[in-house]
Amino acid sequence: MSPLVQKDVFLPATNRPFITTLSEPQISIVAPLYNESQSFPHLVARLNAVMDASPLAIEAVLIDDGSRDDTAALMQQLALADGRYQCVFLSRNYGHQIALSAGMASARATEALFIIDGDLQDPPELLTQFYQKFQEGYDVVYAVRKKRKESWFKRTAYASFYRFMRSISYVDLPLDSGDFSLISRRVADVLKQMPEESRFIRGMRSWVGFRQTGIEYERDARVAGEPKYSFKMLRRLAYNGIFNFSEYPIKLVTRLGMLTLGVALLYFIQTIIKKYFYGDVPQGFTALLFVIILFSGVQLIALGLIGEYVLRIFFQTKGRPLYVIKEVIRQQQRQPFL
Ligand code: UDP
Ligand code: MG
Repeated sequence: MSPLVQKDVFLPATNRPFITTLSEPQISIVAPLYNESQSFPHLVARLNAVMDASPLAIEAVLIDDGSRDDTAALMQQLALADGRYQCVFLSRNYGHQIALSAGMASARATEALFIIDGDLQDPPELLTQFYQKFQEGYDVVYAVRKKRKESWFKRTAYASFYRFMRSISYVDLPLDSGDFSLISRRVADVLKQMPEESRFIRGMRSWVGFRQTGIEYERDARVAGEPKYSFKMLRRLAYNGIFNFSEYPIKLVTRLGMLTLGVALLYFIQTIIKKYFYGDVPQGFTALLFVIILFSGVQLIALGLIGEYVLRIFFQTKGRPLYVIKEVIRQQQRQPFL
């Protein structure tokens, strides 16, 4: 198999050769947007402030995930007016994880990618703090949510999910951290080469390894507009986490099967003993019905669990590209990085 990473992969993150040129930013800030026209002006203002204040050469990669409002038009104007922005337009709505993957693939940063949400729930101003950790030699600096300014239900659901995931996952998933992170160029390169179709980026990021660390932060409320993740989309993300990063469900089915078999055997033995020693065979119609219904349910769940894996194999074997890019707007002659 060909190596997944470039030859500079063994260099510690901080010892990378200094290869920044006029057209190569050091940092790419990557933010996917879906119907974010309301938060867009806020986002651009905050990103501009971060880029203006930073001594680093920064580009901002914005991805339009098939928005239906005028997000795309706003992005177009911006990319044409400001050379620090690279705007990628997907052919339709693919979902946050895929949009993010598209953005990561387009990012040209030589040093690191800073991944944020487009609704400003992840403050872009934290770049300096994250970058400092990166300079200390960490390849992945992920954000750990200390407080979330979201509903009680959402907070509890997230907290329990992360704890559940951590207990069943075969990669070391940090608690309470989402996609908000700074990842080194080499980690981004590895992620780019991971072809999995049902993406759970925070899990894939852990899988890559190298030195990783967390920084605590308070997750803000979204700056404007409604959340774009529906309950269904969140559930899909959770399923991608569970089924792509754990063997637990399928093992559970086997264990459940063995347990059932064990109980059935004991019951069988008990019946035989009763029959031969006491001549007392139970009537047990209700019990029979109950057992049939119970295990039909268990079997259906088991089938469903197996189905989840089969479905993932099915989608993966199609080998389709993850997304289709409609257009990329970025300026070729870049002066702003002077
Ligand atoms: N998003 C996207 N495609 C989608 C749904 C969401 O690109 O299909 C973007 C959205 O514009 C936002 C980020 O992903 O910038 C996070 O979405 P959202 O705020 O709805 O999720 P939440 O913060 O509620 O988990
Ligand atoms: Mg949000």
